[in-house]
Amino acid sequence: MCGIVGVLGAGNASSELYNGLFSIQHRGQNGAGMYIFDGKNTFLKKDKGLVGDIFDKSSLERLKGGSGIGHVRYPTIGSNVQRDAQPFKVEEPIEIGMAHNGNIVNYRELVDEYDLDLESTCDLELILHIFAEELKKESQIDEQALFSTTERLMEKLNGSYSVVALIPNFGLFLFRDPCGIRPFVFGKKVNLDGTSFAVASENTVLDILGYKVLRDVLPGEAVLIKNDKSYQARQIKNEKPKHCMFEWVYFARPDSTIERINVYEARIRLGRQLAKEWRKNDHKLDVVLPVPDTARTHALALAEELDIPYREGLLRNRYVGRTFIMPNQISRETAVKTKLNPIIEEVKGKKIGLVDDSLVRGTTSKKLIKLMRDCNAQEVHFLVGCPPIVSPCYYGIDIPTKDELMAANMSVKEIKKDIGADSLTYQTIDGLVKGIAKDRDQLCLACLDENYPTKVREDIRDYFENMRKKEREKVRKEKEG
Ligand code: SF4
Repeated sequence: MCGIVGVLGAGNASSELYNGLFSIQHRGQNGAGMYIFDGKNTFLKKDKGLVGDIFDKSSLERLKGGSGIGHVRYPTIGSNVQRDAQPFKVEEPIEIGMAHNGNIVNYRELVDEYDLDLESTCDLELILHIFAEELKKESQIDEQALFSTTERLMEKLNGSYSVVALIPNFGLFLFRDPCGIRPFVFGKKVNLDGTSFAVASENTVLDILGYKVLRDVLPGEAVLIKNDKSYQARQIKNEKPKHCMFEWVYFARPDSTIERINVYEARIRLGRQLAKEWRKNDHKLDVVLPVPDTARTHALALAEELDIPYREGLLRNRYVGRTFIMPNQISRETAVKTKLNPIIEEVKGKKIGLVDDSLVRGTTSKKLIKLMRDCNAQEVHFLVGCPPIVSPCYYGIDIPTKDELMAANMSVKEIKKDIGADSLTYQTIDGLVKGIAKDRDQLCLACLDENYPTKVREDIRDYFENMRKKEREKVRKEKEG
C-alpha cells in the first residue's frame, strides 16, 4: 500500500505536496519523494524514511515550482531500500515523472517481455518504462498519443494501479486499473491566485489543502489535467469495479470517503454487524475495549448496539508505527510491547470484549489477550471486524504468505485456543458487505474468498510467496546482525 498526491497550478507545489503526503503518511512509512516542475526545470528528491525526515525547510525551498507529484511508500514486494522510493522519471521519448499505488501481478513476465534492465524492484519503474516504450511507437506525441499509449499499457498490466504522472509538456496524467482496486480522487481549487488541481489516494488530502473534490478517477479511466487548467478524461477499459474492502475496514483514514462511502460511517456499520454475530453466543460482557486505533470505531458501534459500556483499556504510544505496516516480524513483535499498555482498572475482574479490526498472523492478538489476563481479566472474548483472512493479497496490501495466515491454517476453534481467548467472534462476509454498503460484486474480497478480480496463476502465487519469504528471511538475518 502506498499513497500518492499530485498538484498542478499550485502557488507552491512542494509545500502542498508536503502537507498532502503528511496527511497520508499512514499509507506508507518506508519512503517518500517528490518530483516538481517549475515551468522550465524539474527536480526529484526521494529517500527512505518518513516525509518529515526526508524533507526539511531548506529542501522544500529548493523544490520550487507550481506542479508536482509525491509519494509515500509501503513495501509489499521489494525490500525497503532507497532505490525503490518513488517517483521515478524517464527522459525519453519525453520527460515523465511518475508515482503509483498498487501492485503489478505479472511484473516478472513484463520485465522479460520488454527485456528491461531496471534499477529497482519497484513495479512503478516497470509501468513507467513500458509507458515510455509504448509512447515511442506513436508517430506524434500529443494528447491522443497519451491515451492510446495508456490503452496498450492497460492491455499489458495485470494488477492494481492508481498512477499519477507529471509530464512537463502536458500536465498531470492519471490513470487507474480497470477494477479500481486502489482509491483515487481529483479536485479543483479556484481562488484569487487562479485555478489549481490536486489528485490523491484519499480525499482528505484535498480537503486539507482546500481543494473541492470533483470526483473519483473511474476504474479503467485516464485523465489529462493540462497545463492550461482544462482537463479531459477518457474511459480506456470498461470492467466491473472491484474496490479493496480493506480500505474501509482498516487502511484508509476514517475521515476519508472512498467511492462515495465514508470510512468512519462504514466502520460504525461494521461494528453493528459484528454485534449481530456476537449475539449468536451465550456469553456476557462487562465492557467493550478496542485495540487502538482503527478498531475504536468498530468497538464503539458494537458497544452501543449491545448496550455495554465502551472503555479505553489499552493506551497506545502514538509514536510507534502501526504494527501491521512494520516490514518484518521482529520489529512487529518488539513494537507490540512498547505500543500498547493496559489500564489495569478497566480490565481487572471484568469480562472483556476485546475488539480488533482484523486478525492476520495472530501475534498481536495473542500478546494483547495475555496482557488482559496478566491484569486479572475474568474473561477475554475476542471480536474481529474483518472476516477470516485466508489468502494473500497480490494488489498491494502486505497480507503475508499462506503459511503465516492464521485463518488459512486453523479453524476458528483452533485460533481461539491459540490466541488464548474465551471466545472468538468474526465478522461474516455478508456482514462486511452490509457494513461497507457497496454491492458485493463491486468489492474485492479475494483475501477472504480467494476470488481474485484479475487472473493470478499458480506460478505467480508461488513467485510472490517465495519473494515474501526471502525478504522476511533477509530482514530477519539483517536484524540478527
Ligand atoms: S485481496 Fe484483500 S487486501 Fe487485497 S485488494 Fe483484495 S480485498 Fe484488498
